[in-house]
Amino acid sequence: TGRRMRASLGVRPADGRRMDYGEGDAITKHDWTQWLDERAAAGLTRRLRVAGSPQGARMRIDGREYLAFCSNDYLGLANDPRLAMAMREGIDRYGVGAGSAHLINGHFESHQRLEDELASWLDVDAARLFSTGYMANLGVVGALMGRGDTVIADRLNHASLIDAVQLSGARLSRYRHNDLADLEARLERARGERMILTDGVFSMDGDIVPLAELVELAERFDAWLVVDEAHAFGVLGDQGRGSFEAAGLVPGERVLRVGTLGKAFGTAGAFVAGAAEPLAVLLQRARTYLFTTAQPPAVAEASRAALAIVRDEGFRRDRLADLVSAFRAGVAGIEGLEPMPSSTPIQPLTVGEADRALVMAERLDAAGLLVPAIRPPTVPVGGSRLRVTLSAAHDRDDLEELLSALRECTSIP
Ligand code: PMP
Repeated sequence: TGRRMRASLGVRPADGRRMDYGEGDAITKHDWTQWLDERAAAGLTRRLRVAGSPQGARMRIDGREYLAFCSNDYLGLANDPRLAMAMREGIDRYGVGAGSAHLINGHFESHQRLEDELASWLDVDAARLFSTGYMANLGVVGALMGRGDTVIADRLNHASLIDAVQLSGARLSRYRHNDLADLEARLERARGERMILTDGVFSMDGDIVPLAELVELAERFDAWLVVDEAHAFGVLGDQGRGSFEAAGLVPGERVLRVGTLGKAFGTAGAFVAGAAEPLAVLLQRARTYLFTTAQPPAVAEASRAALAIVRDEGFRRDRLADLVSAFRAGVAGIEGLEPMPSSTPIQPLTVGEADRALVMAERLDAAGLLVPAIRPPTVPVGGSRLRVTLSAAHDRDDLEELLSALRECTSIP
């Protein structure tokens, strides 16, 4: 049984190679050497880059100056002096580490104030802070759903939402991207408690969820509707209040929204916002809330400063919207690049084969521009793309530089 146990404890990535030690033997072992070699040969090894300057349009990375089009710092707040000052003051007042989980003695005034301010900004009963968006997603699904329940999720949802369902023990039913008929059929067949789970803005395509229709279906089937607003809060809607504001909808009692603070807010952490009762359940049951150290209170102070800017400086969203339309107009004239139907700062350009995307990204890199190539299995075969993300930190000159580099790299065969 010792042998069996060792075998069953092994992690098993879908494409990991297993080595068999003899016929029918329970012991198998991953051949990681071979796996790593094969990834490298296929050009699929992921590589870390090291930044040596603050987040922004121009960054020093691996010792070179780059113009970067890959961050989620949509409003250009990650290095805002007001956030930095708030964080310094937070350190003076509360020190550096939270020291424990929220429910022990790690929940500081700054966390509580940030939660209250987020709730009032979104006009909901309550908001609860989590240390990352990944953990917020695991927390909200795991607290409300379990064995015997069904989560109906968009196929293009973020990885953390898929993991959240798997960890919860609920049945995962994935519908075709934004396909309402498929979603409805799955809602009909679903057993136990039902939850519709979706991104507000899809992180790889940049498109927006058809929210009015989802709200209607959720109400009709008495299902929870959980919307991950990671790429929507701060960006969508006149006030930056995300996909509901953009669609002119007011969320009901069975809607929960997840926001991340590491993107448009420029800091770190995340929150779940909604009605009093589900939020009370989260506090009692969300394991990624209960069993982890609270984020440093000074970070929450920086997020409070960020919220004030997200709320009050609408010109950042206007500037971003201008950049998005100028980029789309510029790209429309470049042969061999196909923009996707996105109105958000996530502007993927489909280029076709994986090799082509890689070569183009390398050429852009050589020209000092950072634009990631996204390839299968992250996107479908033949759908490899350059994923451009724009930020209010960019100006029109930065955009011109990107467009001319794109023209250059597509003109070379
Ligand atoms: N949801 C979505 C849609 C995301 O894109 C991300 C981050 N890439 C997350 C959740 C996770 O957020 P965090 O980085 O705060 O863990």
